[in-house]
Amino acid sequence: MENSMEKIISLSKRRGFVYQGSEIYGGLAGTYDYGPLGTALKNNLKDLWWRKFVLERDDIYGLDAAILMNQDVWKASGHTKGFADPLVDQSGKTRQFNMMFQTHVGASEEDSAVSYLRPETAQGMFVNFKNIVDSFHPKLPFGLAQVGKAFRNEIAPRDFLFRLRELEQLEIEYFVREKDWEKSFEEFRKLMSQWIEEIGINPKHVHELEVPDGERAHYSKRTIDFEFDYPFGRKELYGLAYRTDFDLKAHALASNTDLSYVDEETKEKIVPHCIEPSFGLDRTVLAVLLEAYTEDELAGEKRTFLRFSPAVAPIKAAVFPLLKNKPDLIKKAETVYKNLKKEIPEITFDDNGNIGKRYRRQDEIGTPYCITIDFETLENDSVTLRDRDSGKQERVKISELTSKFDFLR
Ligand code: ATP
Repeated sequence: MENSMEKIISLSKRRGFVYQGSEIYGGLAGTYDYGPLGTALKNNLKDLWWRKFVLERDDIYGLDAAILMNQDVWKASGHTKGFADPLVDQSGKTRQFNMMFQTHVGASEEDSAVSYLRPETAQGMFVNFKNIVDSFHPKLPFGLAQVGKAFRNEIAPRDFLFRLRELEQLEIEYFVREKDWEKSFEEFRKLMSQWIEEIGINPKHVHELEVPDGERAHYSKRTIDFEFDYPFGRKELYGLAYRTDFDLKAHALASNTDLSYVDEETKEKIVPHCIEPSFGLDRTVLAVLLEAYTEDELAGEKRTFLRFSPAVAPIKAAVFPLLKNKPDLIKKAETVYKNLKKEIPEITFDDNGNIGKRYRRQDEIGTPYCITIDFETLENDSVTLRDRDSGKQERVKISELTSKFDFLR
């Protein structure tokens, strides 16, 4: 199993999914750069998530808050004091090391100019709570959702995309009446499991861990970690936390702003409680890659392929002319490609090497379908459609091709 990490890291580099950050300068620990295919994979995951948790619901509002925030935000949230890991230094003594990246805003080096690269996206949502209530007058329960970068100066970044210093998160802060917190917690617990399955992760490889008293973050009354069976062990993929009214209360007090909400049912002023489903995007990419990586034998030949669910696959189909040196085939293949690309932009064209090699290349990056234009195409406008997983081929009319990609809509 250890081996599978090496295979995925090497495939990711070779085929343009993920590169080491600043590679030509020897790298920068805890940073990775996503190549064209990794970017496409990541964008697909973000879009699917946004669709499921924001667009398809009426009660969750999207947000894109600044990464740099007033330092008082982090004092109120508890991060300035508490977001630390124990570090053993040269003398063997243990000290608390704060994991926030500190910077100065503007030319001043004074303490008053200190800011931090946010270590979580969550606080951007709490400090905009009042804005959303004032602009949209949402009824409880409602939530805010945000996708964006977060930064943690991890003491020991490791395991490829698992423990990074620059990472991306998809988070929701869902505000409820205190009496309803368990109901919403259960709702999101189910939605998180559903999501995991929808993106092609085998639910058998994910385990819910009830985080015991004493091990939860200071703001949480209940936390479930969704752990994944990585090759290096069973470790956190996502978290679901009941943050109580801790954050809104803390920000109301520190900013001297009324962050309460007039309950439309009781006409009482209340501070809503909060359920937080938190998804790490890079860990999602890693889990999806690990799940998809498959080695098998097809027609007596060994092959490696990524069994992505079609919705997350970076490229949905590849179009080939059967032979490179036949102008009629090339012309027809280019026409099919151009027309199809208008409907499905995530397709590619390949006329390099023999057809078997082209199939292998597409298998290795997880392209669900290959479309070959051959001599029969010139006679009756049908093409060969080949399925990645089974290697099976069928003849399909060009006019019926787009309906094969209905899963994208
Ligand atoms: P861990 O215990 O693994 O350090 P955490 O409990 O600190 O994680 P949270 O603060 O709950 O993590 O962050 C929410 C999500 O962000 C995690 O579930 C994970 O998916 C992701 N995440 C957190 N830290 C990192 C990191 N250093 N690199 C990549 N993803 C991360």
